Amino acid sequence: MSDVLERFLRYVRFDTRSDEGSTATPSTPGQSIFQRALVEELQALGLKDASVDDHGYVMATVPATTAKVDVPTIGFIAHVDTSPEMSGARVEPIVHQRYDGRDLVLPGDPSAVLRLADNPELANQIGHDIVTASGTTLLGADDKAGVAEIVTAAAHLMAHPEIPHGPVRLGFTPDEEIGRGALHFDVARFGARCAYTLDGGGRGEVESESFSADAMTLVFHGFNTHPGYAKGRMVNAIKVAADFIHHLPADRLSPESTEGHEGFVHPYVQQSGVDRTTVRLILRDFETLGLTEKARLVERLAREAVARHPGARVEIAIEEQYRNMKVVLDSHPEVIEYAHDAVRRAHLDVRSTPIRGGTDGSKLSFMGLPTPNLFAGEHNFHSRLEWVSRQDMEKAVEVIVELCRVWEERALR
Ligand SMILES: [Zn+2]
Repeated sequence: MSDVLERFLRYVRFDTRSDEGSTATPSTPGQSIFQRALVEELQALGLKDASVDDHGYVMATVPATTAKVDVPTIGFIAHVDTSPEMSGARVEPIVHQRYDGRDLVLPGDPSAVLRLADNPELANQIGHDIVTASGTTLLGADDKAGVAEIVTAAAHLMAHPEIPHGPVRLGFTPDEEIGRGALHFDVARFGARCAYTLDGGGRGEVESESFSADAMTLVFHGFNTHPGYAKGRMVNAIKVAADFIHHLPADRLSPESTEGHEGFVHPYVQQSGVDRTTVRLILRDFETLGLTEKARLVERLAREAVARHPGARVEIAIEEQYRNMKVVLDSHPEVIEYAHDAVRRAHLDVRSTPIRGGTDGSKLSFMGLPTPNLFAGEHNFHSRLEWVSRQDMEKAVEVIVELCRVWEERALR
């Protein structure tokens, strides 16, 4: 299981940032390069059917070893892309051996310092080996930690046919970070009763509740004319959009002011011009009703801003992104229960917190594949201070192997 670190260090060197602006699948060629390398590695491990399909989904099978006939097929899924919000080219991973609570100063940027005071989770990592990037890029533990853990667990199962388990399917998806990870996932071809994404945080996490998510696009239209002759004629869409953003609630309903089960509205991209300014927002809540209320609030604030600028107008579009997976998982309690068993067998405490985001599982659950999320050891994802510990990754491998055992043991025949 110590191979997981070696794999992880190898995988993070692939530049697999996804690109929201691309219509291709995968959205970037770097993901395909990594996926082809994964297929080769899986085949070399003996997973003979490993392949990547036309949409950039790698699937492979660890054949069953059990003598029982009714052991369901289960799956493990991780995404190969990294967030486009932070540079992910030429990642140089650094292993900080035997962490003792010291500040970890990253050599590429002296202002990039991983401190215990800012990262309470580091208190649980004394004596462990912490992996970071060099301070100028993300690390990509989100989700190459998950990929490395699944491949290592598969290698372990292939090397130990005496471990009884049913068929185990592996899936490595593209473009999760731009919300398309499940888009072309062929649930029928995957053919599993349920699956687990390995895309979570600290040791012991089993996540069965995610945000529900919508996106909104506001296009503010103004009127552009030569600024020297604009009196009484120009309507500046940049100022209308700024007025709207200024009126968004600041001390509530924002990412900066919410936690736990609280939702938010979040403007995250703006393309500005006098004639036309586009603002993209995401809306998040654990309840669909809460999303509707937030959409109404955004619409009202946009229309009020427009009303303060005669001659301006706004177009509003809303699109569904994903829904809280809890709705589906509540009717498959064994999927969560067995995950809890596996975590305990790996000598960890089960932790369940609501995911303040979505995973591939949020969509897959609604596509007929109940898919909660397990810890992969990711911390500070999408940041140059991203880190993961070797020991957490090794525990995640152990949990995957134990889960395969639990599903086999619980089958009646
Ligand atoms: Zn992720």
